[in-house]
Amino acid sequence: MSHTASHVVIGASRGIGNDLAKQLFEQNAGGTIVGTMRKADESVLPKGVQIESLDMTKQSSVDSCAAKFGAIDTLIVNAAMGSPDTMLGSDASLLSSYLETNVVGTHRAVLAFLPALRKGKKKQIILLSSTSGSCDLQRNEPSGFQGPYSVSKTATNSLGIQYHNELKDEGFTVLLIHPGWVATDMGKQINDGRGAKTTQQSASDILKILSNLKPEQSGSYLRETGEPLNW
Ligand code: NDP
Repeated sequence: MSHTASHVVIGASRGIGNDLAKQLFEQNAGGTIVGTMRKADESVLPKGVQIESLDMTKQSSVDSCAAKFGAIDTLIVNAAMGSPDTMLGSDASLLSSYLETNVVGTHRAVLAFLPALRKGKKKQIILLSSTSGSCDLQRNEPSGFQGPYSVSKTATNSLGIQYHNELKDEGFTVLLIHPGWVATDMGKQINDGRGAKTTQQSASDILKILSNLKPEQSGSYLRETGEPLNW
């Protein structure tokens, strides 16, 4: 059966993606909210959120999830891996894992969901990036994870720009967004998460930006506060 979804959140099992799916559902904006997970677990989201299995590193998993949807308004690619690895301490296989999950996985998802996004009303592609992806900030004032995570988020930014260039004439809006430093399993690897935002606050900040998102903003790279980031 072919479903229509207002929002598909990839990586909704925990962390920021979990709160994005919860808050979208609570806002009750109309339309189905979908949360994808590697291991589908209905207990982590409210009843009424549609849960689907999806592993970004597996083509057949991404394809079979995307094939269930006839139309989608907004795709949020939130899933990623991240740890405080250094570049010179990372061998080729660790770098490949980062790129496979965070970059190739993102592209796999965007391509698979594109036919449904083209039939959706909003045509929005939201990619969770990071200040770690900014070469300018990494060069001058590095914060957050560096090394291969940073490389993967710079590539995510580049992906977003390529999607923007190739889809803007079809009315798509592509956004790269840093969620803040957030006390998730990923974010708590820095300073045990002391001083980090809550997932609730981060998701609410992101959804505030999405609620006012205009096609003219396509190709932007923003903090969760709405402030533009240097590339
Ligand atoms: P978490 O580590 O808390 O959660 C990561 C999510 O990604 C989980 O749902 C996990 O699923 C999913 N995931 C990981 N690998 C895959 C895969 N191969 N296929 C499908 N899903 C996968 O991360 P956060 O919530 O902190 O991060 C969310 C986004 O925000 C990421 O893109 C991250 O890079 C970005 N970000 C986070 C910051 C922070 O401070 N937390 C700062 C800057 C950016 P599972 O449960 O199955 O492992």
